[in-house]
Amino acid sequence: MNFTDAHCHLTKEFYNDIGKVIEKCSSAGVTRYIVNATDYESVLEVLELAKKYESVYGAIGLHPEDVDKGFDYRVLDNAIDNKKIIAIGEIGLDYHYDNYNKEKEIEAFKKQLIFAEKYHIPVIVHSRDATQDTLDILKEYKVTGLIHSFSGSLEIAREYIKRGFLLGINGVITFKNCKIKEVYKNIPLESIVLETDSPFLTPVPYRGEKNDPSHIIDIAKFVSDLYGISLEELEKVTNANIDRVFMNK
Ligand SMILES: [Zn+2]
Repeated sequence: MNFTDAHCHLTKEFYNDIGKVIEKCSSAGVTRYIVNATDYESVLEVLELAKKYESVYGAIGLHPEDVDKGFDYRVLDNAIDNKKIIAIGEIGLDYHYDNYNKEKEIEAFKKQLIFAEKYHIPVIVHSRDATQDTLDILKEYKVTGLIHSFSGSLEIAREYIKRGFLLGINGVITFKNCKIKEVYKNIPLESIVLETDSPFLTPVPYRGEKNDPSHIIDIAKFVSDLYGISLEELEKVTNANIDRVFMNK
């Protein structure tokens, strides 16, 4: 199998030996990774990883939970011609914790959307407890990409799909009381991709362990059952979706 993990954080903050993780995941059948940065330091790391490993593609950007850290936006300019840097991410809005800085989050989000629009680079969007603002802001720009860990209603899903966005399915879909299963049944296969968000969101039955991209296979088994298609078919369509949206450089 040759599945893609469309959203993960294979950085040294979470893994001691990234080469080993990639080796393990590749032999499990996950052979392409979109590694997402969240702050300046991880941007530099993602640039290195994408250079070092053929199977690693990079998304670089400033995460909404990291807007209080310093960020030198010139690092984005410098990567415009880098063929392994295929997205601006992980960017977006997160109003989950009490101390969030809404103004600063919106400012960083818009700044990066302007950049993505200007250079026709897709974005990888994180949106938590901020659906309406995320949608309203995305409507202002001609951008497309991935709504990572999508967990909203069918109506919201359709809004994103209309704008050409893919929706990311991860381990959350395997959780027992997860209602998103019903929503996904009505979402066309051409709009979905698989992601782990490693090291977070480990799927059932491995909850409590650290996640890694090899669990794409467990998510894929669950999703292929949900859609009533074979693993091979799911592999083919999700890879084609990623190629269509992200691999145009
Ligand atoms: Zn993430």
